[in-house]
Amino acid sequence: MGTELVQISNTGAPKHEERAKPEVIPQSGERNARTFYIETFGCQMNVHDSEKVAGTLVARGYRPVDNHADAELIFYNTCSIREKAAEKVFSHLGALKKAYRQNPKTIAVLGCVAQQEGERIFERAPQVSLVCGSASYTQLPDLLDQVEAGKRRVTGLSLDTDECFETELTRRDNPFRAYLTIIEGCDQRCSFCVVPMTRGPERSRPSETILDECRRLVDEGYIEIQLLGQIVNNWRDPSSRRLSFAELLSRVAEVPGVRRVRFTTSHPRYFTPDIVQAIDTHPALCDQVHLPVQSGSSRVLARMLRGYTREEYLEKINCVRSAKRAISISTDIIVGFCGESNEDFERTISLLEIVEYDQVFSFKYSPRPNTPAAGFEDSVAEEEKGRRLAELLERQRLIQLRRNQMLVGQEFEVLVESFQTRLQQAVGRTTSNRVVNFPGEPGWIGRAINVRVTAAGPNSLVGVRADQSFSDSAATR
Ligand code: SAM
Repeated sequence: MGTELVQISNTGAPKHEERAKPEVIPQSGERNARTFYIETFGCQMNVHDSEKVAGTLVARGYRPVDNHADAELIFYNTCSIREKAAEKVFSHLGALKKAYRQNPKTIAVLGCVAQQEGERIFERAPQVSLVCGSASYTQLPDLLDQVEAGKRRVTGLSLDTDECFETELTRRDNPFRAYLTIIEGCDQRCSFCVVPMTRGPERSRPSETILDECRRLVDEGYIEIQLLGQIVNNWRDPSSRRLSFAELLSRVAEVPGVRRVRFTTSHPRYFTPDIVQAIDTHPALCDQVHLPVQSGSSRVLARMLRGYTREEYLEKINCVRSAKRAISISTDIIVGFCGESNEDFERTISLLEIVEYDQVFSFKYSPRPNTPAAGFEDSVAEEEKGRRLAELLERQRLIQLRRNQMLVGQEFEVLVESFQTRLQQAVGRTTSNRVVNFPGEPGWIGRAINVRVTAAGPNSLVGVRADQSFSDSAATR
């Protein structure tokens, strides 16, 4: 969830499913407008940044297209969380160079790789005209002026900012779920993580502007709001209201018309009982918490500079489990971090069995430039990292299967997100973020439908629409 690291299409949707994708209707005169294409890599924050960049471009008279062949201006919004993700960008740039050798296009690199590599990108990929990190997105109109004037090697790379990228020009592609960034940057400096170096210092948006945007989103027909931040629960209200994060969650959930609210990513260090109380109090707050643990060994956690021990983390889990609602819990885990012994790894496996997560996003440790851990020895061999990852995935698969099978026979509200034409199946999510497939119709996209679970696998549920006299509701706009 919070950290779904998938390659996202231009619409913000995973590429394999049919979604409620709004048709791009050219405004009058737009047919002749300059065209752009944005490809986004990485987390939801990147997806949402791309939506804001797209809004800025549309406001300048550009027209979005679905592929780079039709575009005059091509943007890559990049991720550098692991080496593979960063290298992927350069291989895409190489392919573009080859494809458009005769007819070069204007290419811009945005996001974390832009910030991390800076002007070195021009050396490796001379066809690139603009390199801009996320902390400089507020300057995009000015940078685009320079690109449009034909200037080459335009950069926006300063990290010295206390501004958030607030804009009303966001061009959201999902018609019912809206991302909303409430805190940008990160000051945590976990020893493995490149984010503080690529996204700049932590800066929170004032509660009034967040709540205003939520109200606007409901007016526009959105029913699910996902509050985003690298460490979303470290949000601090810079306005005189001084709301706590839990109070903000409650206020967002109380906005009339908001049906579901999610938030990601929470850091265990700032995860407080009032967040659980807010979830218990407000039905619109989804019964789901993403709480990355990274490792089950206190020794490794100390080397990672995470700021909590295994025992302290388990106390947070107990707090979530003590809620009146059954709250599903997901996590992120890194295997093979510098100095991780077999015994440390076994502590992670035992944590999995204790917590019984509903979903786990797991990664092999990848050394990143300029991070504290870049100075440690990357002591676990690649093969061993692979072995540990495979073991962890298998243990977690069995846990998820067991937990999902306990749901067979129960009924859940499912918000339909897509439709698989070949199988004639609607695909949606419960508030606990479980994927449910059930026989349906394309017109159900965006509707909340009661579904009875008939079968369960480790990664999804299968169901049938429950008695229509329940509370199915047309939540579409
Ligand atoms: N800011 C969030 C936090 O600190 O929990 C998550 C940020 S990151 C986009 C998502 C996940 O990528 C992390 O939780 C971690 O598990 C993983 N990750 C980050 N740096 C990594 C690295 N150097 N190697 C492997 N995985 C990494």
